[in-house]
Amino acid sequence: MSTLIYWFRNDLRLLDSPALNKVCREATHLIPVYVLPPDAIMSRWGFARVSTQRKRYVAETLAALDAQCRELGSRLLVLQGDAATALASLVESTRADGIVCEQIAAPEEEAEVEQLRAQGIKVQYFWQSTMLDLAALPFTPRQMPDMFTQFRQKLESKGLRARAVLPRPERLPSLPDHVPAESLSLAQRLDLLGSRPEANTPLQAGTSQGLQHLDHYFADELPHTYKETRNQLSGPDYSTHFSAWLATGALSASMIVERLTQYESARGANDGTYWIWFELVWRDYFRFLHLKYGRALYLREGLRQPDSLADAQRLAVPTSGIALKLFEQWTEGKTKNALVNAGMNELAATGILSNRMRQIVASYLIYDLRIDWRAGAAWFESQLLDYDVYSNQGNWLYIAGLGTDPRGGRRMNLDKQALEHDPKGFYRKQWAQT
Ligand SMILES: Cc1cc2nc3c(=O)[nH]c(=O)nc-3n(C[C@H](O)[C@H](O)[C@H](O)COP(=O)(O)OP(=O)(O)OC[C@H]3O[C@@H](n4cnc5c(N)ncnc54)[C@H](O)[C@@H]3O)c2cc1C
Repeated sequence: MSTLIYWFRNDLRLLDSPALNKVCREATHLIPVYVLPPDAIMSRWGFARVSTQRKRYVAETLAALDAQCRELGSRLLVLQGDAATALASLVESTRADGIVCEQIAAPEEEAEVEQLRAQGIKVQYFWQSTMLDLAALPFTPRQMPDMFTQFRQKLESKGLRARAVLPRPERLPSLPDHVPAESLSLAQRLDLLGSRPEANTPLQAGTSQGLQHLDHYFADELPHTYKETRNQLSGPDYSTHFSAWLATGALSASMIVERLTQYESARGANDGTYWIWFELVWRDYFRFLHLKYGRALYLREGLRQPDSLADAQRLAVPTSGIALKLFEQWTEGKTKNALVNAGMNELAATGILSNRMRQIVASYLIYDLRIDWRAGAAWFESQLLDYDVYSNQGNWLYIAGLGTDPRGGRRMNLDKQALEHDPKGFYRKQWAQT
């Protein structure tokens, strides 16, 4: 007889979850749980760490997951607070034998697990958020090539693509008799958060909606044209829009690659379909890079030696004075650049931003305003519906030139970008104000 807790983190699905499958085989009783961060949690830069619309998106995903758990005879328990504290008290009140969860190799998430273990709680965690299994890699994470191209080429030379997709468990072990009551139901929470604003892209939450989106995306020619359209600034299908489902874990990257492979078999592979895979390799790359470098990716100087930056290269920390003012103007879409303002307005209004606009606004913050990239990354964390700790950190570091890329940072020529990607100014006009 064993009672285990399955702690859902960024893997909010029942399908294709190696860790959940394992726990379902082993536990007599299972408590599926998610821990929401405290409502008023603030970033170190003085703004709310999670915007209302991201809270809403996560709550919608949780409601969908709860419905799936109920179909299998259980339900999702949603707690709120500091994860280690909330889970430790759940272990105590239910006399659970341990916790099983996915591994997230980012400092705060690792610290949560360490805090639980320090209290004597058994936590088993599993690496499962990449499309490739750790064991399948032709190198250990510590030996992985620093450069993305070499990393990708090594995978390609071994013919690696993605691990096989697992079915959802046939049943969830029953809940034990005494499970604490939640203070707020998901329905109440959704009511309190209000509705999400209309976005350019219809972003629904949860696995079923994600699967419907996959049906839509792979129904016709969209994958074949991805490479030509992916740098557009807005529109329903210029890119795949898989990211928010991936970030919450409602879909896994292997599920997407499975569909991509089926599509290629049925309708042919081309540059477009290859490029979708290529972008998913970036996603895996930033994840594995965390296993190699961990905390160092979160330092102000990134992977550089602390003393190696000349004064002229140092970015201002936006906690007071002019740096704070410039940073606030950036977050509010009130800079001197109309394209940047449009992007920041779209982000604040919808929680969505194209990859091209993310690069543009990040470059502007770092190279034109000379503001600390970590504050920009924190603003994205707060706003993006598809916020993903690995991809966000990795991309900011890459643009700042403080990661593994030997070519240094990625400064964008904004006039050229506007000419190329918004020649008639439609995007700037659409998002001139929110
Ligand atoms: C400064 C900055 C911050 C970013 N922060 C995030 C973030 O918090 N969460 C997030 O998911 N992505 C982030 N990205 C990566 C990228 O912008 C988004 O994944 C993409 O715009 C999501 O839209 P899509 O699903 O239509 O992507 P598509 O272009 O259709 O790509 C397909 C999938 O490939 C992956 N992918 C594509 N580009 C990248 C990339 N550069 N790095 C890693 N994975 C990629 C994503 O999983 C994406 O869903 C960031 C990029 C930048 C420049």
